[in-house]
Formats: sequence, C-alpha cells, structure tokens
Amino acid sequence: MESDEAVQSTNDDASECKRSAVRLGYWQDRFIGVLARATERKPPEINRGYFARTQGVTLFVKQFLKVVGEKCQIINIGAGFDTLYWRLKDMDLKVENFTEIDFPSVTARKCYAIKRSKVLLDGLGITDGEVKFSSTELHGGNYHLVGADVRNLADVAQKLRESEVDLRLPTLFLAECVLVYIECAQVTRLLAWIVEHFSNALFVNYEQVNMCDRFGNIMLENLRARGCPLSGVESCKSLDTQKKRFLNANWDGAKAWTMVDVYAAIDPSERHRVEKLEMLDEQELLTQLFQHYCISVAWKGPVLQGGIRLSE
Ligand code: SAM
Repeated sequence: MESDEAVQSTNDDASECKRSAVRLGYWQDRFIGVLARATERKPPEINRGYFARTQGVTLFVKQFLKVVGEKCQIINIGAGFDTLYWRLKDMDLKVENFTEIDFPSVTARKCYAIKRSKVLLDGLGITDGEVKFSSTELHGGNYHLVGADVRNLADVAQKLRESEVDLRLPTLFLAECVLVYIECAQVTRLLAWIVEHFSNALFVNYEQVNMCDRFGNIMLENLRARGCPLSGVESCKSLDTQKKRFLNANWDGAKAWTMVDVYAAIDPSERHRVEKLEMLDEQELLTQLFQHYCISVAWKGPVLQGGIRLSE
C-alpha cells in the first residue's frame, strides 16, 4: 500500500536524525553510521530531541534489566534501523533473546546492511556459518530480525515462534514512533494479545502527545503531507489517553511522562555536556517540542508489579 511505503520511509528520517546527533557527539553509537545514510546536519532542537528520546528509552531499558536480570527478552516493534541490540552489548548488558520486527521491505534493507558489515556481524558474537538468513530475515545467536506487519497478529505470533521467543520470560516491548501509524483498534488488539500471551511484560512507547495545539498540528501535518495515515493519532491526545490505551487492553498499570520530564530525569552531567555541544537560540522551541512527545510505560505480571519509575 502507498501509505505503508510512506510509513516505512519514516525510518529513514529517524535513522538519519540519530546519525546526525551521534556525529555531533550527543551520545555514542558506533553502529548507526553503518545503517543510516549521512545527510546534512540537523537543527540543534532536532538533535537535542533525539538525544532525549534515545536516553529516555535507554533509561527504561536499563531499569527493566536491573529488575528482571539477564533471563529476559526484548522485542522491538517497528524497529527500523535501531541499534539498541548492539549498544546494549557495548554496555555489557545481556538478554536471552532480542527480536526486531518491521515491514519486510525495511528488514530486507537491515539484513543486507548487517550481512555486509563486519562491525554488525561481529556484534552478533557468532561465526558467519551460524547466521541463518533469507532476504528479509536474519537469525544469529540471540538476535532475530523478522519481517511482519504487526497489524497481523497471526503473522506476529508465527515470527516470534521462529525467533524462539519464550512467552514465560520477562519481556520488554519497545515501540518508538510506531503506534501512531496504526489504527487505534488494531493497536488495542496488539496490546491485548501481548498481555494475553506473556506472563511478565513491560511496554515502553515513545511517540507524539498533546497534539491539540498549533505546534503539534504542524508536525503532524508534515507527516500527513507525506502520505502517512496517522491512524493511531487519537491515543496521542494526552498523557491520559496514552495510559488508557494500555489499561483498556488489560495491562496491570501504566504511566506516562512528557519529554519535558524525561529530559529533566537524565543525569545532569550528561545534560550539561550536551547543552554545550550546540547553541540553541530558542530554548522555548525545545520546551514546546518536548511537550509534544512522551514516553508511556505499561506493565503486566508479578515481576514488574513494583512499577517502573522515571529515574536513572
Ligand atoms: N523505531 C525506529 C526508531 O525509532 O528508529 C523506527 C521508527 S520509524 C519512525 C517507524 C517504523 O515503524 C518504520 O520502520 C515502519 O516501517 C515501522 N512500522 C510502522 N507500522 C508498522 C507495522 N504495521 N508493522 C511493522 N512495522 C511498522
């Protein structure tokens, strides 16, 4: 579908923005340059926004790993060219299984890049012969990259089985700027399917919020103009609608913060370091941007019952 292609192309933007920020020293990622095209330098507020997004998501991933230990899994929904699998290895953080799902046309490009890159293949920690791959999928060690439309739950279930995902292990689901493109009812079905099948799960979702004012609408108009359907936009109205989406799908609990709060929770020395990287003429613009993005988390099962906090 044409609109699916527009959605898939948002991955190019995201990975190029991440590459731009990494090149300027916002955070370390020696893998993104292999996957993302080099483009012109992005504006400072975009670089800072991606810094907050990456650090915010990493903060929750680390908290999950601290609570559950190494016997766990991460499933990245709409993973695009994300490099978390390799970055966790660099941080010496271990998981039993790391599975990435995206449309086959996106996973095909990622497969191709991985096969051609020594640094990414080395990161899988195995010898070449042990990597199983097709044109759109790759299974190597504890890393699995599979192609599926996550609106099709039968397909998702099948791909997770092929990736040896264990329904009994604590599992972190990640979605960064993905659910907004999916019809609300389909997101609810996906979220309900997860709680039904996984006994201990955490969902970390990053996306747009507080969309009702002028600034939010402008950003979304840009996406709409590119042909993105933005079917899930209803849930991005407020922090409350973000949380309700999970609670309506039977998750045990949910919390949500705008990126204003997430940014404030990042280690102050890190914040001060990046604030010196580039001049930001309009601090107000950044604050507005941060008010229109959020991280919501939801949990299910006894292991995560203590809840997840916004802290290092
Ligand atoms: N999560 C990655 C990141 O933050 O760098 C990529 C974000 S990109 C904005 C959105 C991604 O979601 C794209 O790679 C797109 O193909 C994927 N996506 C959107 N809808 C999807 C669906 N129904 N099934 C699988 N992937 C989907």
